[in-house]
Amino acid sequence: MAAGGLRVETRLAVLGRPREPGQPLNVPIVPASNFRAGASGTAGREYSRDDGTPGWEALEELIGDLEGGPAVCFSSGMAAIAAVLELLPVGARVVAPRDSYTGLRALLGDGAAAGGRWAVRTVDVTDAGALLAAVADADLVWLETPSNPLLDVVDIAAVATAARAAGALVAVDNTFATPLLQNPLALGADFAVHSATKAIGGHSDLLLGAVVVRRPDDSARLVRRREVAGATPGALEAFLALRGARTLAVRLRQAQESAGELARRLAAHPAVDRVRYPGLPGDPHHALAARQMRGSGAVLSFEVADADADAVCAGVGVIASATSLGGVESTIERRAKLPGQEHVQAGLVRLGVGCEHVEDLWADLVAALDTGATDPTIRSDVPVRSHL
Ligand SMILES: *Cc1c(COP(=O)(O)O)cnc(C)c1O
Repeated sequence: MAAGGLRVETRLAVLGRPREPGQPLNVPIVPASNFRAGASGTAGREYSRDDGTPGWEALEELIGDLEGGPAVCFSSGMAAIAAVLELLPVGARVVAPRDSYTGLRALLGDGAAAGGRWAVRTVDVTDAGALLAAVADADLVWLETPSNPLLDVVDIAAVATAARAAGALVAVDNTFATPLLQNPLALGADFAVHSATKAIGGHSDLLLGAVVVRRPDDSARLVRRREVAGATPGALEAFLALRGARTLAVRLRQAQESAGELARRLAAHPAVDRVRYPGLPGDPHHALAARQMRGSGAVLSFEVADADADAVCAGVGVIASATSLGGVESTIERRAKLPGQEHVQAGLVRLGVGCEHVEDLWADLVAALDTGATDPTIRSDVPVRSHL
């Protein structure tokens, strides 16, 4: 459907739907691996791993429209990331941010170790000089902005300009911003990657990923990767992700407003040493984020005394002590407990803000911060867990 001129809230509601009279408003879940063959030589859907399902296609129509390019959906965000990396020739030079989703760095590390599938250079992207120097020597630059969990913001347009001069591709993990707050392709990136598991799905009840590309050739190459590697989205997951995406704008508006308010209050709380949220005027990335993004998002991190961070996470009741983010329910997690987070302060706590009332969230945080400061029985010595 031509959606030109419609605002994003409207496009979220109307795209990816059957239009013919008598058809259901929502694309039905079609739990089919195979379809009846037509006469020999006729084009048509035969096998869903190769030919897709109506459910993925509807979701791809919507995500592609929001990001401004053809979209290809995968079984998870990691499958989407892996598909982009698999487009690279053996030995390609990849620049990756030090602060980024742990799964990305695990995947890159495994490939580098496995006979040099690629060569990885990890950079602190807050050092613009180091980043641009690395870009000059790269085949692919991977960005994550805002980053997980430090909320670093990178100037996508500046990196894309430098990358083009160096003949390098740029991929941006846009999961934290969502397509509503930032569109990497419009800023010159080649790939916008999403874990739709997070805000797009929005209800913590599915795994799904998507890649949106600037050059149509890349979409054909990604579809080919999906066919041969088999990381296809499930029919139910595609249905749920599309249903969740319908409310993305209203959920994000509420969550982002609460995140801003909580960031301001946390910054003034005596038990909090530092808040990271690009929406705070004092944040080092505030000016860049204000220029590059249409909002600061619904994720923030804050630091408390190292010994108190686990107690703060254990002390919440309304907020879920849980990994992941982007759902209607707020989640809190001490990130340094995970492997691959050595650069993250031990007392740093990430808060994924959901759709609860902000005053209930604040009361919950205040109570947990009080527990953290007083309960000597809960300390930061829980065993390291292996999930990402
Ligand atoms: C969760 C996440 C991923 C991985 O997505 P999955 O759907 O869990 O595979 C990638 N990038 C970011 C920023 C994430 O938050």
